[in-house]
Amino acid sequence: MAKATEIESIDGFEMGKPYYCIECKRNHTKGKIYREHISFAQSETPNKQDIPDEDIESNDDEFDDDVELTESFEEFKIDENDIEIENEIDDNKDIENETLPNNKGSLQESINEVKKLPGVGEATLNKLIKAGFSSLESIAFTPPSIIQDESGLGDKTTAKLIKACMEKLNIGFKSAEDVWEHRKNIARITTGSQELDDLLGGGVETGSLIEFFGEFRTGKTQIMHQLCVNVQLPLEKGGIEGKALYIDTEGTFRPERIIQMAEGLDLDHNKILKNIIFGRAYNSDHQVILIKEAANLIKEQNIKLIVVDSLIGHFRSEYIGRGTLANRQQLINSHLHDLLRLCDIYTDLAIVVTNQVQAKPDVFYGNPLQAAGGNVVAHGSTIRIFLRKGKGEQRIAKIVDAPHLPEGEAIFSITENGISD
Ligand code: ADP
Ligand code: MG
Repeated sequence: MAKATEIESIDGFEMGKPYYCIECKRNHTKGKIYREHISFAQSETPNKQDIPDEDIESNDDEFDDDVELTESFEEFKIDENDIEIENEIDDNKDIENETLPNNKGSLQESINEVKKLPGVGEATLNKLIKAGFSSLESIAFTPPSIIQDESGLGDKTTAKLIKACMEKLNIGFKSAEDVWEHRKNIARITTGSQELDDLLGGGVETGSLIEFFGEFRTGKTQIMHQLCVNVQLPLEKGGIEGKALYIDTEGTFRPERIIQMAEGLDLDHNKILKNIIFGRAYNSDHQVILIKEAANLIKEQNIKLIVVDSLIGHFRSEYIGRGTLANRQQLINSHLHDLLRLCDIYTDLAIVVTNQVQAKPDVFYGNPLQAAGGNVVAHGSTIRIFLRKGKGEQRIAKIVDAPHLPEGEAIFSITENGISD
């Protein structure tokens, strides 16, 4: 299947020239969106009188497509003004869930660290920040080829930068005691079910990528919603006082469910909704771009949970047939590594993804249902949980793969108030 990004030219239009995009109703001059929207190109910018007034958006300025990436999120952010504040009296004094703080200060601090690196001038710094490399960690943990591609810096500069960052961060061998010291203090988010938390070793842990897979209606999306609420809880209630970023590829995010779950915990749903940043990914390219853009929001917005529901649905439907399999697996692999890198960089961030299952007709013993995406996804996730239906509202979770957890099962329920035992 031809993808928009692969189109090199269209009739009567020369690549590289600015064009008027009939989809976005404005000019594209450069960047990713330029390539992706080439099929919407109208080679001549229309006369302004041909466009209805409300569609004209400052086309006079040179349009910077980098800004557009941020807008992808902004567009879907729940508008604070749309939410009516029912009454000003705060009746959940026990849970001090004021709108969670942004961390603009600490973002500036980490940018200052990058600025201090040898050889980093204003121009290099700008390129790095634009490409999402605004901390020492993000530079140290990213392969040089990716930094080069995304920032446009040369290979020597990139190599020097990475080396400097690794030295500053003291990355290298450390003792198992240090590793233990770190793991002991890992924060966890409660799922709402004690049994499921126990199965996970105390809840969804930060610094890991956790995959929930199972058939349709087994509760994957419900768990994702619940975690977006629970991540905001104070520590003593099983949360980590952070915001959530939700990437929805299937169109199944429902604020109504968030409201029900928040009310189930006696929380003010307006505040809970405000702290969930939502992005709808319309295709696999868009999904990849949203995750790359997310890197910039994590520190600034104090995001402690990223949800991708579902991880590979788009990839599966866009790359159909045997001939495309290698290409598809490679793209999924690179997307997964973008996610895993975020776990390395931001150690107090948890990433949860959902995955569909596909029937494996050649399996005669054991479970014939396998997570989609094959080995690529299996090796990328730190912890994998298989979900299946039980009686009524009951669901059964089973650990399939985890480096440190025993095999086991947990039974939980999906109720109107969310996930519970
Ligand atoms: P999937 O694994 O396909 O993502 P979902 O997470 O969407 O599945 O789970 C759907 C199930 O969640 C439904 O079958 C229903 O049992 C339960 N559910 C959804 N909304 C509610 C609700 N408001 N009250 C009770 N149960 C609900
Ligand atoms: Mg779902």
